[in-house]
Amino acid sequence: MADAFDVIVVGAGPGGYVAAIRAAQLGMTVACVDKRDAPGGTCLNIGCIPSKALLQSSERFAAAQHELAAHGVRVADVTLDLKTMLARKDKVVSDNTHGVEFLFRKNKVEYVKGTARLGARDRVAVALNAGGRRELAAKKAIILATGSDSASLPGIAIDERRIVSSTGALALSAVPKHLVVVGGGYIGLEMGSVWRRLGAEVTVVEFLDRITPGMDAELSAALQRSLERQGFKFRLATKVAEAKSGKDGVTLALEPAKGGARENLDADIVLVAVGRVPHTAELGLKEIGVALDEKGRIKVDGRFATNVAGLYAIGDAITGPMLAHKASEEGVVLAEMLAGSKPVLDYDAIPAVIYTWPEVATVGRTEEQLKAAGVTYKTGKFPFSANPRARANGFTEGFVKILADARSDRVLGVHIIGPDAGTLIAEAALAMEFAASAEDIARTVHAHPTLEEAVKEAALAVDGHPIHI
Ligand code: FAD
Ligand code: NAD
Repeated sequence: MADAFDVIVVGAGPGGYVAAIRAAQLGMTVACVDKRDAPGGTCLNIGCIPSKALLQSSERFAAAQHELAAHGVRVADVTLDLKTMLARKDKVVSDNTHGVEFLFRKNKVEYVKGTARLGARDRVAVALNAGGRRELAAKKAIILATGSDSASLPGIAIDERRIVSSTGALALSAVPKHLVVVGGGYIGLEMGSVWRRLGAEVTVVEFLDRITPGMDAELSAALQRSLERQGFKFRLATKVAEAKSGKDGVTLALEPAKGGARENLDADIVLVAVGRVPHTAELGLKEIGVALDEKGRIKVDGRFATNVAGLYAIGDAITGPMLAHKASEEGVVLAEMLAGSKPVLDYDAIPAVIYTWPEVATVGRTEEQLKAAGVTYKTGKFPFSANPRARANGFTEGFVKILADARSDRVLGVHIIGPDAGTLIAEAALAMEFAASAEDIARTVHAHPTLEEAVKEAALAVDGHPIHI
């Protein structure tokens, strides 16, 4: 006999667990199935949270070594206790996953630990982690929120020892002498920053002729310069043809991306960070006829419905940016749709942040996208070097750039590289959500002295009259 619920969610990542809680808040009975014993998905277990814990710890280590003296704070003999740093990261993860378990209990969501397979459009068979099977039936909907996995490269076998994915890079037992990162995107630059700050030499091998493709090009160039000052080395327009693991390390064969002579590069650890692919393998989608797109993502319409009635999908497993907050918002919107509301998710106002130093944060369209679309726009820029709080804090790198429609003044994109960019971008996302003009931001009173004043000044600069530059 199957246990019946209004909604069954497969996957307890930021998409699935948030969808489950919101559906329960709206009065539905909900089961959430995940093959991990701890909920939270990629993000809480092996993604956003452990990487930010290590970024924070490594930033403290680097500050103690290089920055405190300028503040008149003398510290001697700064040494690394990697074991404690990694244990702290694990504790941060378990505190967060326990938090989700608490929220499940509070909202009466039943968490089922096991691997789910669709038996029919309204049936899920779960191979329980504890052994045995359980049949679940959905009265209203099944939500597939099964997320994504690290992409691999042909000829480079990830063993999570010498050649690691982000998961291995979060748990190296010693600081590598030379870490080669394949892929100059989010993971490569964040995890590269962690190990660089802890003392590794870091070389990033990127296939394209720039890092962070898709970001506003001016930000990518500024980030590359900043990381180079921190000691990163970049091999752009380069591909890895082959990787040979030996006893003491890995030898990579590099080639120009367009083809040409090979050269070798030795590393003791290689991090493969060339993107992520949707994770749908165990679901049995083919058997019940769920359509996938050309990248293996579950095809959905504007209401997250697949081509099979009653089956929905959200998060990394469908199209769009592979970001936790995007997955969560889709979960909320879908749960509310299932309850009969008509919420709207504005995909043009989803912020993205790279948590390097300086941080890079962006929302809306880039200059390249506006040019390609033939939109006439005005640009307002303001450097943190002219912001009093940035000077007081001692971090003056970077700038805020606001792009606004030349005729209507509506904000079309905001791109920030600098201290706390990931926090500052929230104001820009809110402004875009409200269809604000640059003048709306410029006329909003910002507290002094704050980094946020740089956003206001960039908005003033759109109209050509910033005060402090
Ligand atoms: P996931 O979080 O991947 O969760 C899917 C869950 O489904 C998994 O727990 C999996 O076990 C389960 N599952 C899959 N198939 C089955 C099955 N058949 N049966 C049962 N369970 C199943 N995003 C950000 O926004 N900010 C960040 O700072 C950030 N940092 C990241 C750092 C790293 C190192 C990585 C790898 C990713 C990071 N991301 C970040 C991306 C973020 O983790 C993902 O976008 C987000 O987790 C996607 O959420 P999701 O719910 O769609 O899927
Ligand atoms: P990514 O898409 O950010 O970057 C991958 C990089 O690898 C790109 O620059 C790409 O050009 C390059 N590349 C692809 N094939 C290559 C090859 N053969 N050789 C060399 N370079 C190659 O992917 P990622 O860094 O693996 O991260 C995956 C996703 O996880 C991100 O896209 C993002 O959505 C999410 N994520 C987000 C955060 C955050 O929000 N701070 C942090 C980590 C991960």
